[in-house]
Amino acid sequence: MKLNLTVAFFALFAIGSPLAAEFRVGFAAADITPPVGWRRAGSYTEVISTGVHDPLMTKAMVVEDGTTTFAFVGNDLCSVPRDLTDLARALASERTGIPVANIVITATHTHGGPEYLGPLREFLHDRAKRANNGRDPHEPINYRAQLVERWAAVIVSAWSKRQSASLEVVIPRLEGVAFNRRYWMKDGAVGWNPRKGDTNIFRPAGPVDTDFPFLLARRAGSTDPLGSLAVFAMHTAVYGGPPFGADFPGHLQTNLTAAFGPKFISIFGEGCAGDVNHLNPFTLESQHWTNVSPAIGRAMAAVALTNLPHASRVKPGSLAVRSAIIRSPVTPITEAEYDAARKLMTTLDGNGASFLVIVDAWRKIFRRQFWEQHGGELPQEVQAVRFDADTALVTLPHEVFTELGMAIKAASPFRRTMVVSLANDLDFYIPTRRAFEEGHYEPTTCPLEPGCGERLVAAAVKLLNELKP
Ligand SMILES: [Zn+2]
Repeated sequence: MKLNLTVAFFALFAIGSPLAAEFRVGFAAADITPPVGWRRAGSYTEVISTGVHDPLMTKAMVVEDGTTTFAFVGNDLCSVPRDLTDLARALASERTGIPVANIVITATHTHGGPEYLGPLREFLHDRAKRANNGRDPHEPINYRAQLVERWAAVIVSAWSKRQSASLEVVIPRLEGVAFNRRYWMKDGAVGWNPRKGDTNIFRPAGPVDTDFPFLLARRAGSTDPLGSLAVFAMHTAVYGGPPFGADFPGHLQTNLTAAFGPKFISIFGEGCAGDVNHLNPFTLESQHWTNVSPAIGRAMAAVALTNLPHASRVKPGSLAVRSAIIRSPVTPITEAEYDAARKLMTTLDGNGASFLVIVDAWRKIFRRQFWEQHGGELPQEVQAVRFDADTALVTLPHEVFTELGMAIKAASPFRRTMVVSLANDLDFYIPTRRAFEEGHYEPTTCPLEPGCGERLVAAAVKLLNELKP
């Protein structure tokens, strides 16, 4: 008799209370492809888009569990800037009641997205305006304002579609597709993306993270899949065409749609991939993007699908989000250094400057902007989400080195920790302290002082420890 009363009590509690232990999940997607003719991102020169290889999408997943709601937005963009993500998160929060700190807007880092921010875009945009009576023919619409509105709208749409759902997660390995692009060379230097078959390569200077977390939502009481979040630490920089393109996350979507139906929404978060890409210098075999990009999307879908039987059910009832803002010192810049960088930018087309010299100038302009905007310390937001006692997600801004993402996972008190980069802010590299000493491309783009990466790791681990029940 006593037992029956207890059962009845719990049944009533589960039906009537807003704290009922169940997930409510919603997905939505919207097109964010700019007009053809807009500049394409991912390059240090002007590239004009010539068509649409894949529509560029913004996709949102909203997860609600009792009183907590979390929204994740993925975008087929090279990066997202803080000023716009701040506006969109505030707008979405106003319309849904989801706290700003519980919303994250990320980029897949596709290099087939539009160039719509940063010093290079500003330079090319200003030059075009000067030549065309104040109008830039490559930017016929206010794309930035449109993005803010679409991000807010896609969150509202996913939120309004939320329904009873189950969540499951599996973290298989995806091997053989990602390579650390920094190498210790036999001559003692650190090389970057060495050419195929280079006999001077001694060994990779950093690791590769083969974890491929896959979080899947299904309609409650059925096996109908609604959508997924997949994470992998490899540069979304395979795509190479002049039309707009979504790269392998687009092919992952296509393959999962084929398996799960046309309404399925696949969101991709780039893991900590600052020093990792698809280029394999140990084989002479050609790696043309037209083959490699679809092959990676296919491999990802295959690994997800074959490992789903091993997925663990995420237990509802303890969803929680923590967010912290840390401040990272910006490397100081003199007036003379800034002037030299500006001058180099304005002669970009004919100055014959080497790649690293251009990258360095670009960073100096960034550094100056950061000093003006933030007084020498860049605010960086770190978010951590507890899905259940075993499953957590961390989101970090910028392009964080793989070793740093792995350090977060190793120190995490959660059995399963996913780490997504390029969240809420720009694409520049966050190297390890050691990589700053070794030099080359990624440390050259970073406007922050060495130690910025280790600081992000410490902040993320602190949030994870606070969330561990
Ligand atoms: Zn990058």
